Amino acid sequence: MNNPENTPSGVLQVLFIAAEADPFIKVGGLGDVTGSLPPILRSLDPSQTGGQLLDVRLVIPFHGAISLPPENCQLLTTFTLPYGKRSLEVQAFQTHQNGVPVYLIAGEPIPPEAPVYSMNTAQDGEKYTFFSLAALELARKMDWQPDILHANDWHTAISVYMLNLLRSQRDSFFSNTHSVLSIHNLPFMGGGIESALQAYGIQPSSDPKLPEWARYFPLPMGLSTADRIVAVSPTYAKEILTPEFGCGLQDFLATRKNTVSGILNGLDEANWDPSNDPALSQPFSQSSLPDRMENKKAILEEFSLNPDLDLPLLIFIGRMDRQKGVDIVIQGLRQMSGTPWQAILLGSGDPILEDEVRKLEADFPDRVRAAIRFDPQLSRRLYAGGDCLLMPSRYEPCGLAQMIAMRYGCIPIGRAVGGLRDTIVDLPDSSQSTGFLFKEASADSLVSALRRALEQYPNHQDWQARQILAMQQDFSWQRSAISYAGIYHTWREKS
Ligand code: ADP
Repeated sequence: MNNPENTPSGVLQVLFIAAEADPFIKVGGLGDVTGSLPPILRSLDPSQTGGQLLDVRLVIPFHGAISLPPENCQLLTTFTLPYGKRSLEVQAFQTHQNGVPVYLIAGEPIPPEAPVYSMNTAQDGEKYTFFSLAALELARKMDWQPDILHANDWHTAISVYMLNLLRSQRDSFFSNTHSVLSIHNLPFMGGGIESALQAYGIQPSSDPKLPEWARYFPLPMGLSTADRIVAVSPTYAKEILTPEFGCGLQDFLATRKNTVSGILNGLDEANWDPSNDPALSQPFSQSSLPDRMENKKAILEEFSLNPDLDLPLLIFIGRMDRQKGVDIVIQGLRQMSGTPWQAILLGSGDPILEDEVRKLEADFPDRVRAAIRFDPQLSRRLYAGGDCLLMPSRYEPCGLAQMIAMRYGCIPIGRAVGGLRDTIVDLPDSSQSTGFLFKEASADSLVSALRRALEQYPNHQDWQARQILAMQQDFSWQRSAISYAGIYHTWREKS
């Protein structure tokens, strides 16, 4: 078929595929990235991309939870994929979002009742293998040859693996397509889906550098064949080469070191803008920082805490998960019980950790509050009213909460890992610093950074200078998009 949106030659064509994309469907940070990055990439000026416009098109599964008015979503084409002894029909729908052509893939392996990610590995395996292969085939059906296939995480890594197989079979349609695979979260590798891969005729990887156990895991399979690998922060890109963060793939990844880069995710700066956030009692900006206090006053009142504005208010916002180190926060606050502070912890997740947070509140009823729920509006009031955000993550590929906190003048105290290390500046010269970093994933290490913060907190002038510097940081998507464009451009320079 002929695609009505075929682009003129000279434009770099990027097929961007992912399991989720805001605003169609968002489960986690991946949805934010996929929702924000493609439109920004398309809007870049050729002077920012090495001379080319980027025709980025997004492909996502047509999950049951996605609802689009029929006038905004047309059936573009149908085709089949071989599956065991039969074939499966693919329906590709087309819509637009922020100027980006978006294709939604439907078919039997993407049942309407299934969540985006389930506990059922086999079902997810069928779904994402079908989706990954269909996204590639769709490009062929549209006769739209991608220069770049950009896949994200394990869900779409099989498209990268398949692209390489097709290239090795001298498939003329994909012979000039290069692949980029972004790692948003390395521990999730998509293991246990052999039967789905077999049904589509995909053999385990024969790459001798891959550990034996990983040869039928989609993410490692994709990583072994991707032309470029991107981790979502420069530090995470280095960390995944180490035993602490490499999840058993560190030696293999070291063999691919030259293809690995780190690009920080951006923040949707219009969505997270304290001068224009209807959730706040009092909007504020760098130039009206004293107004921020109204938000602290309001949140202390909302949680019936001591209204003394000089008492530092510590906040935690995040999944109650070991990754986020909420257990370290609990232990750290207990160790700091001799020092004046108040704290509000917002999050949900592991029931055992939730109970421990409730116990902390019960043990310190006059200074700790537990909000065990997912509450985006409350999170905004907390970022605007809290003095310090505690973020002692065990690993943090990029992290959004610390960037939001800085934008809202809430000083992050984070572990120096992954994106936390790349976004929080902690220098001996406090006038150059935007937060506090500590090394170990331990309560002692958190406590030493927290003590430093609490010592400096009473010095209002210095504290405000730190807040202003934090609010001035450039976490825009524009910056990330230019870095991605640089990676896409690599092959153009060579060809
Ligand atoms: P993750 O690893 O969970 O993606 P990030 O720091 O990258 O961590 O992003 C977490 C996002 O989810 C932030 O926007 C944070 O404000 C938000 N968030 C986490 N927990 C909650 C909650 N309980 N209520 C509201 N927002 C939350």
